[in-house]
Order: sequence, then structure tokens, then C-alpha cells
Amino acid sequence: MSIKSPIKSVVIAGGGTAGWMAAAALSRMLDSSEVDITLVESEAIGTVGVGEATIPNIATFNKMLGIEERDFMANTHATIKYGIEFVGWTKDGESYFHPFGTHGRDMMGMSFHQFWRKMHALGKASRIETYSATAMAAKQGKACLPSRDRNSLMSTLAHAYQFDAGRYAAFLRKYSENNGVTRVEGKITNVDVNSESGFIETLLLDNGKTLSGEFFIDCTGFRALLTEKVMETSFRDWSHWLPCNSALAVGSEKLPDSPPYTRATAREAGWQWQIPLQHRTGNGHVYCSDFMSDQLADEILLKTLASAPLASPKQLRFTTGQREKMWTKNCLALGLSGGFLEPLESTSIYLIQAGISRLLALFPDTGFNATEIDEYNKLMDLEFAQVRDFLILHYVANERRGEPFWDYVRNMSIPDSLKRKIDLFKGRGRYFRYDGDLFTETSWIAVFLGQNIVPEGYNPLVDSLPEKEVENRLNAMRAELAQAVPQMPEHDVFLSRYCPAPKSE
Ligand SMILES: Cc1cc2nc3c(=O)[nH]c(=O)nc-3n(C[C@H](O)[C@H](O)[C@H](O)COP(=O)(O)OP(=O)(O)OC[C@H]3O[C@@H](n4cnc5c(N)ncnc54)[C@H](O)[C@@H]3O)c2cc1C
Repeated sequence: MSIKSPIKSVVIAGGGTAGWMAAAALSRMLDSSEVDITLVESEAIGTVGVGEATIPNIATFNKMLGIEERDFMANTHATIKYGIEFVGWTKDGESYFHPFGTHGRDMMGMSFHQFWRKMHALGKASRIETYSATAMAAKQGKACLPSRDRNSLMSTLAHAYQFDAGRYAAFLRKYSENNGVTRVEGKITNVDVNSESGFIETLLLDNGKTLSGEFFIDCTGFRALLTEKVMETSFRDWSHWLPCNSALAVGSEKLPDSPPYTRATAREAGWQWQIPLQHRTGNGHVYCSDFMSDQLADEILLKTLASAPLASPKQLRFTTGQREKMWTKNCLALGLSGGFLEPLESTSIYLIQAGISRLLALFPDTGFNATEIDEYNKLMDLEFAQVRDFLILHYVANERRGEPFWDYVRNMSIPDSLKRKIDLFKGRGRYFRYDGDLFTETSWIAVFLGQNIVPEGYNPLVDSLPEKEVENRLNAMRAELAQAVPQMPEHDVFLSRYCPAPKSE
């Protein structure tokens, strides 16, 4: 019989964003009188300390936990994120906006961008982002909740958050402990493995404590203590496609008018992020050390900050890629221990969330069914590969000629899966979202067009709507946004009313 007894004890190794997200979700879903959940973390080691920008999916995770948006935003000093402004990704002096939400309104069951493509070629449409409520709100520094009127373009406003990663982990820790999770302080120094089954049995800590369990979740970050060192799961290295391998991160003073979006500015051998929070600004320079020295990267970062730094930049190293198997026997890798795709589209926290939701759907019993584990690994492979392709698109379609890093990424070979997508779009602007692709049509279209991949034509069915009618509709959309967006509150005003950070902090 393949059905075995239920799991009675789960041990989570590591208490960064991944560890506490896992603890929070499991404590919500499992009965604490039936299952022990223990999380071990080491203050001496600390967390990676970055990971502040998100995508809208995180709202689903918070909802699953029963967390109110205002409460979450106040406690994590969060701001609204309407998308990402990409500066200089085609060439210096050019920029575009990747908004959440949608561009304009679809017509006759066809995507808005198809009509836009026709009218833009005729000189009768402005840049595609000017038809997005979300992009326009971002550009004007405004914020509010979406309209409930489905006929209004303001109902298409969509946001994610920019928040303090440390405060998010602390917030989830409180939530998890209230739900019965036991937190243990200590450094894991040894791991006992059953010599016959190869299953992990016990973690041994530097303070003499031992933690036995049936199921182990490895959230030890880049160390991948259980996954790599104990399970010896190899790493699928994608650095030939995403060669950035270093980052310098530094906080700086709060910007006077916090923009409701993240900015990603292309630099000589990588790019720089700016993430506004309620109390400070997160900044970082992501670069490839084969093309730029750490010292120069540090100089560029500090020289280009929009506000005074609050500390010295912190150096981080990484390799882009993922584990060959996220789940092996009774050990599941979650967060950075399972893989890392650089933070260009703020996808890492989402990938933790995806890992958790798949785990909940395939929660094991003590039999650890191999087919189910295999299914989990397949689903996560797909998630990672789709995000990977979207990230590569930003690099490969650059026009920064004469800069060695950008010349390399423009000329590198790319995965067939991405090449097919680009070829399909280049013809008549076709794009299809399938296999549960994380990024929406709006996202792909924004980056295709933003990176100057303009389709040769458009869907011929577009011509069935008279040109004048399309022109009128596009003009009406712009007029609606021109009227509504300026009436929204300033972003900082919205935050101070909706989710002010607690006064004591
Ligand atoms: C430069 C950079 C920028 C990023 N920006 C973003 C972003 O904007 N958006 C986004 O979604 N993601 C971003 N990420 C990713 C994000 O930071 C991580 O996905 C997230 O923080 C989860 O990290 P983690 O919990 O897996 O690891 P960590 O935060 O490193 O936590 C590891 C935990 O394991 C513990 N630990 C390790 N070894 C031991 C041991 N021996 N004994 C006991 N405990 C141990 C540590 O103490 C810690 O608690 C970024 C990452 C980098 C590198």
C-alpha cells in the first residue's frame, strides 16, 4: 500500500524570508496539536538581508495566511510597487516601464497591443505604456486602490509591494509563533542521516541541542546546508545566459517623494536597483565580475545614489541557476538553497511562494511517494525556466554596442523556448501564455516593445474594426486616464493614510 502514516514533525532549517514564509504557511495549514513545526536559525550567521521588491502574487500568499494588506504594509514599512522602470536597457537615454495590470482594453476579444501596433505604425497612437493606468499612476507618483467599477480603466490598477525584508521575516515569525511554531536558536553543525535510506534524521546544533524530524525544509540560503552538503544535489548553472554573479547592496535615506515603483538602471556591466520604502531606500548594483571590478562597481553605486547612504555597501556573490532536484527524499530546498535567478524582475520571493503552494498541494506522508516528489520537481523546473527566459529577454535585446558585457549578452545563444517566443512576436505580435507562465501578456509585451522588439505586422483580424473607430477608442482611453490619474493621491499621502508604519519604530 502506498498510503503511509501522516507526518508528525517538520523541521525548517533557516529563518530568512524562505524559512519564515514556510513556517507561516505550514502553521496555517497543519493542525499544531498533530504536527510539530520547528524552525532553527542562527543569529550569528544572519540572513542575506536583501529581497525587498515583489510582484503582485504575494498578495495571494498573504491572503492565504489571513493577513490584512494594511497591517502587512505598515509592519514591513512597505510602499506600493506599480512595476519597474527600465532605464538605459536598450541604450543610454532611453527608458520604458513594465507595469503590472494591463495596457488599455482588449477589443473584439483581441489583445489591445494588436490594435495599438496598427495605430502606432500610422502615427495615431502614443507609447503603449500611456494606455496603462498602472504605468501612468507610477509616472505621476500617485497611488490608490483599484476602482471597483469594472468599466473604468482605473479598475486595472495592479500593485505589488516594496518592503523591508528583515521586518517581513519578523512579521511572519510573530505570526508563526502565535500559530505554534517553535523557534530554536543555534548553528547547525552536523546532520545525521539514516545509513540505509539516506533520509535525514537529526540536526545537531553547536549548543548541543538536537532536532529530530520526519520532513526537513532547507531554507539555509546560499549555503544550502542540507540540499548540497548532505543530499549532494547538483546545481544547474545558467550563468552562461545570466552572467551577473555579484551584487553590492546599500540602504540610503528616504527619497522626498517615494516613487511607487522600482527602478532598474543599466550600468556598464550590469544594472542598479532603486527600491523606495517608507523609511529608507534600498539600492544595489548587480554586475558580472568578469567585466567589472568590485571597486569600480562600488564607486558607481555610491556615485549614483539618489540619497545619502546609511552604511557601506554589502558584497554578495551568487551563481544563477537552480538545483537539479528541489526535493530529494525527505529534504526540500526552498529559497536561495533551491536556486537563484537574479533580482531583475523581483521573482525570488515569488519562487518561494510557488514552492510552498506546490508543497501544500503535494504534502507528503511518511512514505514520501517518489512520483509525487518527481511531480514537484517538474513543476518547479518549469517555474524557474519560465522566469529565466523572461530575464534573458531583457539582456539579449539590448543595443548597448561597444560595451563588452552588453555585446556578450546580445550575441549569446539563448534557450530555444525563448527564441520561439521572440520569433513569434516579431511576426505579427503574437504571444501566448501557457504552462502556467508566471508573467502575463502585459509583462511580455512591455518588455518586448520596451527592448525595441517591434513586430513587423499585426493580427489581420484587427482590420475588421474600422480604423476611425479604433482611433476613437484609443483616444478615449487616454482621455480617461488623463482625467482620472491626476486625481489620485500622491503616493506618500496614500501611504500615510492607508498603512503608516507604527510610530514607535
Ligand atoms: C542581490 C540580491 C537581491 C535580491 N533582491 C530581491 C528582490 O528584490 N526581490 C525578491 O523577491 N528577491 C530578491 N532576492 C532574493 C531574496 O533575498 C531571497 O529569495 C530571500 O531573501 C530568501 O532568502 P533565504 O531565506 O532563502 O536565505 P537567507 O536570507 O540567507 O536565510 C538563510 C537562513 O538560514 C540560516 N542558516 C544558514 N546556515 C545555518 C546554519 N548552519 N545553522 C542555522 N541556521 C543557518 C541563516 O541564519 C538564515 O536564517 C535578492 C537576492 C540577492 C542576492
